Amino acid sequence: MDLKSTKASPILTDAAPINKSRLGIHSSLLPCSQSGSSFSTSVLTIPRKKPSKLDDVRSNGWLDAMKSSSPPRKKILKDFNVEVASDDSDVAYNSWMVKHPSVINSFENIVNCARGKKIVMFLDYDGTLSPIVDDPDCAFMSDDMRSAVRNVAKYFSTAIISGRSRDKVFELVGLTELYYAGSHGMDIIFPDRDKLSTHHSTCVKSADQQGMEVNLFQPASEFLPMIDEVFRTLVENTKDIKGAKVENHKFCASVHYRNVDDKSWPTVAQCVHDILKDYPRLRLTHGRKVLEVRPVIEWDKGKAVEFLLESLGLSNSADVLAIYIGDDRTDEDAFKVLREGNRGYGILVSSAPKESNAFFSLRDPSEVKEFLKSLVSWKEQNAL
Ligand SMILES: [Mg+2]
Repeated sequence: MDLKSTKASPILTDAAPINKSRLGIHSSLLPCSQSGSSFSTSVLTIPRKKPSKLDDVRSNGWLDAMKSSSPPRKKILKDFNVEVASDDSDVAYNSWMVKHPSVINSFENIVNCARGKKIVMFLDYDGTLSPIVDDPDCAFMSDDMRSAVRNVAKYFSTAIISGRSRDKVFELVGLTELYYAGSHGMDIIFPDRDKLSTHHSTCVKSADQQGMEVNLFQPASEFLPMIDEVFRTLVENTKDIKGAKVENHKFCASVHYRNVDDKSWPTVAQCVHDILKDYPRLRLTHGRKVLEVRPVIEWDKGKAVEFLLESLGLSNSADVLAIYIGDDRTDEDAFKVLREGNRGYGILVSSAPKESNAFFSLRDPSEVKEFLKSLVSWKEQNAL
């Protein structure tokens, strides 16, 4: 299957410009914000009409992005209290799958590409291994899914790359045999036994909770105090917005509006916008019903994938096939890295059509589990 045969889709994240160099750790860690004091508010010297409230968030597209950040719920047949997809959405989904085929239906294709290569598995957490739920603290993965991930990790190097803090996602997954990248890849840990194949000056030795020596890579460590300050301000300024929930993910902060009445979404957007105006070194990205505030550095899940492949000596695409499974806009950076570098396949988890750089698709976490189990079965049958 030719990865180049499908035209790349538009990038969905509003990410900072990406350095085209392959890994470019040193240059890519340079903040790409304005020069000068990083904490000061920029002063406008050109008089202009003061925007009316909410003009900012409307004109810069935040509200549109918020509305489109999650697929619409399927129609509910009240008489039967069951969810069904309308005929129209079925047709749209089926035509979308021509461009992003189900990896379950294309299983033979992907394993044929993997023959003679090491598979490396990258997994997002929320919406990929766990269902999307109203309370992010309750996004638990099932024991069956945990077992599927554990079995995958027996045969293939496996990393979790999540927007959550690394500690939190480890607590939710609970498998010590995996690599973990939290805060959208800005907080990476891997055991010291996995020697770095390249030298990264910002990689430091540390010890994990069991006292084992580990390597830590935290390209945004200087932003810790700033993120903490913004987190506390976000908590304070959104406390009167019913349903809003603010989380501190260590190197980024997020404001969930899934449980906020949509009439109040502009208020959420304006609140975050007003705070960000004071922090030119922070930027906003959109996740599924969540606004995420993160440092302006050229680092994202795609860079984290490249970093892990390089660091673990798995960057030779002639010998390695990388598979990345994720469900939201922040995963697009990783899909793009795999597609453009001809390094493997992105798999988008979505029950509705979406523009994506992923090559394949899966409908929901239960299909993710089915795919992981199929990979393990295939590996066991082809072990000799
Ligand atoms: Mg996700």
